Amino acid sequence: MFMLKGKVAIVTGASRGIGKAIAIKLAQNGANVAIIYSSNSEAAKEVVDFIQEKMNVKAVAYQCDVSDFKQTKEVFETIIKEFGQVDILVNNAGITKDKLILTMKEEDFDKCVEVNLKGVFNMIKHSSNYFVKRKEGRIINISSVSALMGTAGQSNYVSSKAGVIGLTKSIARELGSRNITCNAIAPGFIETDMTSVLSESKKEEYLNSIPLKRLGAPEDVANAVLFLASDMASYITGEIIRVDGGIAI
Ligand code: NAD
Repeated sequence: MFMLKGKVAIVTGASRGIGKAIAIKLAQNGANVAIIYSSNSEAAKEVVDFIQEKMNVKAVAYQCDVSDFKQTKEVFETIIKEFGQVDILVNNAGITKDKLILTMKEEDFDKCVEVNLKGVFNMIKHSSNYFVKRKEGRIINISSVSALMGTAGQSNYVSSKAGVIGLTKSIARELGSRNITCNAIAPGFIETDMTSVLSESKKEEYLNSIPLKRLGAPEDVANAVLFLASDMASYITGEIIRVDGGIAI
């Protein structure tokens, strides 16, 4: 039942949405969780309080901008000090700045790459030395099916998420001999604040192209993260798992 008993997991962007569901799922399975959030202290505290109330594990929230190299180094060192170890790193934090290329500004492109791709690099960079010394580690990156299919109006986001796939495969090759796995999940349309801004007609359009005929829930992604973090996935690395109801088949 407790697949991750005694493990410590870092989950970025865990104050809401998919990250929140991942933090709760890992905690339900016995992991202590360090939650990284960017700005909403209230929401992060609610996640921590919920986990501490319902599950017998440690949970602490840390404010950190994942795109900031120095901040991510400091937060990783603080987490090691306060938790004593880190076993699982889930890079979930992400943003969208949707625009067609004709109207996209340079900063719209840069911001997506800084948070979605550089943020993943930062967290892996600061944890890899530690994982190598321990000869153990699980890295799980949240990409997107849009990186596999392309999406009009999201060339910035899609580029950053495709970068995450390349990063995942390279790190899997580099660190595999040290018993460190690195995998990615490519979610399809998951109902969160990020997708709540889409029009009903756009949602309907997505729904029509999903073979399983339903939009995804954050827990669908969290289940795949739990699997990749568990001993059941110890021989899987460099893999990209779609959790998309079949939209990108
Ligand atoms: P969300 O907007 O609800 O949550 C994103 C989280 O990331 C928030 O907690 C936010 O505070 C955090 N974050 C943003 N910028 C940050 C920064 N600079 N530093 C630290 N934290 C930061 O989004 P979501 O729908 O829960 O998405 C989670 C992840 O899943 C993202 O990487 C997203 O790209 C990916 N994804 C989502 C969908 C979907 O349909 N919702 C589909 C494919 C991929």
